[in-house]
Amino acid sequence: MVVQVLFAAKEERWDQYEAPLTRALREAGVEATIGTDIAAQDVEYIVYAPNSSVQDFSIFPKLKAVLNLWAGVETVAPNKTLKVPLARMVDHGLTQGMIEWVTGHVLRHHLGMDTHIFNPDRLWEAKAPPLAEQRRVCILGLGALGSACAQTLAGLGFDVSGWSRNAKDIDGVTCHHGDAGLKNALSDAEIVVLLLPDTRATTNVVNATSLQWLAKGAVIINPGRGPLIDDDALLSALNSGQIGHATLDVFRIEPLPQDHPYWAHPNVTVTPHIASETRTWTASQCVAENIRRSEIGEPLLHLVDRSVGY
Ligand code: NDP
Repeated sequence: MVVQVLFAAKEERWDQYEAPLTRALREAGVEATIGTDIAAQDVEYIVYAPNSSVQDFSIFPKLKAVLNLWAGVETVAPNKTLKVPLARMVDHGLTQGMIEWVTGHVLRHHLGMDTHIFNPDRLWEAKAPPLAEQRRVCILGLGALGSACAQTLAGLGFDVSGWSRNAKDIDGVTCHHGDAGLKNALSDAEIVVLLLPDTRATTNVVNATSLQWLAKGAVIINPGRGPLIDDDALLSALNSGQIGHATLDVFRIEPLPQDHPYWAHPNVTVTPHIASETRTWTASQCVAENIRRSEIGEPLLHLVDRSVGY
């Protein structure tokens, strides 16, 4: 039987994915027809990304699974018309890209690079930064991306703590979990990296209260999702000096509106949702592997638990 796969990922262009997906399916031993115009009654799998034109999954009577090209599933997980398994993207390229982006921005702040890059008065301030082991970094979210970043930073010598929903044991990282563990994870942290999913439970996890737990002048780095931060609370903490800088890659509204205060704030760095992206070849292998598994009745990889939203 030839498997019918609909590519319904509007933001990810079909011309970029056609060759790698076709090859990955062939290499996985799956005989498939894949395209953007498969008749709804024939569709068995949907390759999906946010802003897909597909919003009503009930029109696909033979649908077996939806395979998200992105790690974040907040736009599709709550969809009540979706009755089949939803898998998300865990991909080497995505993980490695995030490690590099996070490490780069952590080192920027740890080393105080801005002082020397922007030095209009040509000041000679010969003050060496502390060593990594003297810098407390906290990673909120210890999943595929957060744990990889935590391990890399711990490997560089940083004093790393982390926070997740369930208990974790990660070499070199002091792990906290559950609502009760948040305060311990954040206490006195000087750099905080947000790698949580956007769910009901994580909305505004960075708020007026939790910002006060951090060391004075702490840095927030958010490559997770915009709603993790109460924006008004962050702006007021930036203005009071409780937060020294925020490097933000994701926002409640994207693109970030031109008149948003983040653009103008001297202590905010805005990057345009580029922390890491799904790479076509490795992502295609992930999609093909899940279709192969589904076809032989094996459990899918990276399944989303829709009861918790990630
Ligand atoms: P995972 O699902 O692998 O990890 C999520 C982590 O968050 C887990 O450790 C989980 O805990 C923890 N978590 C979830 N809910 C809670 C909660 N209520 N309290 C405490 N911890 C919680 O996701 P990934 O690591 O793959 O990705 C994380 C996010 O990064 C994505 O959801 C996406 O929003 C964002 N992202 C951003 C990109 C960018 O370019 N800016 C690119 C890719 C992803 P537990 O381990 O116990 O389940």
